[in-house]
Amino acid sequence: MELKSRNPRVIVDPLPTLALSSTVMAYTTPKSFPSMGSLYLNSPKKKPLPGKIEEVRAAGWLDLMLASSPTCKRQNKDFINDVQEDDLDLQYHNWMVKYPSALTSFEAITGLAKGKRLVLFFDYDGTLSPIVDNPENAIMSDEMRDAVRYVASLFPTAIISGRSRDKVFDFVKLSELYYAGSHGMDIMGPIRKSEFSGQHVKCIRSTDSKGKEVNLFQPASEFLPMISEVFNKLGETVKNIDGAKMEDNKFCVSVHYRNVAPHDYAEVHQRVTAVLRNYPCLRLTHGRKVLEVRPVIDWNKGKAVEFLLESLGLSEKEDVVPIYVGDDKTDEDAFKVLKANNLGFGILVSSVPKDTDAFYSLRDSIQVMEFLKKLAFWKEEST
Ligand SMILES: [Mg+2]
Repeated sequence: MELKSRNPRVIVDPLPTLALSSTVMAYTTPKSFPSMGSLYLNSPKKKPLPGKIEEVRAAGWLDLMLASSPTCKRQNKDFINDVQEDDLDLQYHNWMVKYPSALTSFEAITGLAKGKRLVLFFDYDGTLSPIVDNPENAIMSDEMRDAVRYVASLFPTAIISGRSRDKVFDFVKLSELYYAGSHGMDIMGPIRKSEFSGQHVKCIRSTDSKGKEVNLFQPASEFLPMISEVFNKLGETVKNIDGAKMEDNKFCVSVHYRNVAPHDYAEVHQRVTAVLRNYPCLRLTHGRKVLEVRPVIDWNKGKAVEFLLESLGLSEKEDVVPIYVGDDKTDEDAFKVLKANNLGFGILVSSVPKDTDAFYSLRDSIQVMEFLKKLAFWKEEST
């Protein structure tokens, strides 16, 4: 009650948009699905008021949560007929004209990279591992691990994930890579060759598990006690919602809803935002079947890319071509940085059309693996 009376604003990311036309979206909405109005809070229907903008935003979030749920996709499959599936295929292929496959454009990519130094950045979930129902089971295949090890032996390679750095390392198990966890807010990298010019620089010397000296960069370290408190509060508030799963990613907190029944999505969103009203320093973002809470600081995966390039002594070098491969909205920050600086390019992993700042696309993690192998073979053949 007290929270509502204060009514502070919860900071959320702008809602991502799909590149599908509204007609196509209408076709793909299953008819048996409850309407947004009935899903959201069961409140009596009223004319929208200027003060109700947050409710409208919440409905938008619900659209997003429903659209990315596996149940919705299954129901979509049941309801759309072959003609509509062909329509979606057509939409995807039209989209690929703008964002061509990195596999079919491989010669163009290697033409650009010839005689230059490639640097590789990868997201983890949905990029190097498939999206699975239980986030704890997002295991990387041995074949993918071999492919990543292979490219890392030829190019500087880093993984930038929303998960905690330790957890990503446990999944990947390759000590030759650089790791940035918590959306780049927890970076373990090489000793920097020059000073990073950004703000919030909190780089400390440390040692990795093998005793090698490394730099540890944690721009949001002062938020740790608050994040820990919010993790406990969110865990308490969603604990009796079937399928809701919490994940502590050190500098961010994830509330996974991929196993929650769609009729409970409104409840998950409402309870999470109710807790966050007391924490204006934290923001809510939406990933693939996950709500994420993180500090409001001027830091993201794009800044992490810049930081790592600087640390590696590879920033502002004309012969360096960074490639970032990712599937999530948070990866767009990295795509933007590469695009804005005319530095390398992003590759979006997606099987549906999306607005993106990437230049190329790959359909899924299987195609990512294929791309890595091709890149490694090309490098070995060309040297
Ligand atoms: Mg991802």
